[in-house]
Amino acid sequence: MRLWVGLRTGREEARIIGARVPPGNPEMPANPAEKRLVSARCVCYEPAPEGSTGVFAMADDGSIRPLIAGNWKMNGRRADGVALARELVRQARRSTRADLRCDLVICPPATLLTMLAEVVADGPVGLGAQDCHPLASGAHTGDVSAAMLADAGCRYVIVGHSERRTDHGERDEQVRAKAEAAHTVGLCAIVCLGEAEAERARGETLAVVERQFRGSLPVAATAANTVIAYEPVWAIGTGKVPTTAEIAAVHAQLRALAGNQMTDGQRLRLLYGGSVKAGNAAEILAVANVNGALVGGASLSAGDFWAIARSCP
Ligand code: PEP
Repeated sequence: MRLWVGLRTGREEARIIGARVPPGNPEMPANPAEKRLVSARCVCYEPAPEGSTGVFAMADDGSIRPLIAGNWKMNGRRADGVALARELVRQARRSTRADLRCDLVICPPATLLTMLAEVVADGPVGLGAQDCHPLASGAHTGDVSAAMLADAGCRYVIVGHSERRTDHGERDEQVRAKAEAAHTVGLCAIVCLGEAEAERARGETLAVVERQFRGSLPVAATAANTVIAYEPVWAIGTGKVPTTAEIAAVHAQLRALAGNQMTDGQRLRLLYGGSVKAGNAAEILAVANVNGALVGGASLSAGDFWAIARSCP
């Protein structure tokens, strides 16, 4: 039997992947065999009844609640990682959920996950990893499995980032396998895709994005367990950004693909990533079908990341 995995937030509800559990009903009986997959702060739930799922990622008015995710990449030592996470938690705690207008997640390097899980525990800032291995355990030196990430306190994992695709030759099939591994342990997979500069120059942007979408998404992907991040490779870390019309065209296509492939594709969060800064975030986040941002360089400054979060419409 498939179990939902969730974090007890200690706030008004238990937030679980795929559904909300009403207050007062946070502790459904867990299968002990499955429970070892998650950390002490996580509980296993039986699937929520039909009809009550899919509210994850929804704002109180029924619209898609944006997600602002920070990809710290290979940056951060313990002291500065803790300071950055603490500052974000402090800022976020001063806002109500309605006032903040987005969900926040930080994706530090693997070395900081366990430590930062304590810093963000039960608070408004979620924790994610930057990659996972498709298998649960075994002889894979240097790799970390999705189950290990869940055990460390993660709720999200980025898969298929262009730097992984380039540096490690990852292809769509591997990205899909990683996303499936994430789903198996209740993590939300942030699946990255986007065209290279040469592909854009050849007018292949929409074709590349469609191919990556079809190839990288598990068949069981839902709006609750998956987020798409459209990241044009040429815009990552370069200061170059597509026009809002170009972003709108890609996101419209992604929405159509999601609508065709997934039963709840209209609610799938579609992030834009690539040189999002405090100064351009409002314009980008206002584009139709942009439901948040994946932020690299600017996520290393609490002030800049917070300013981007505050730019959500
Ligand atoms: C990223 O690494 O996902 C990214 C978007 O980086 P940057 O914001 O620095 O372009």
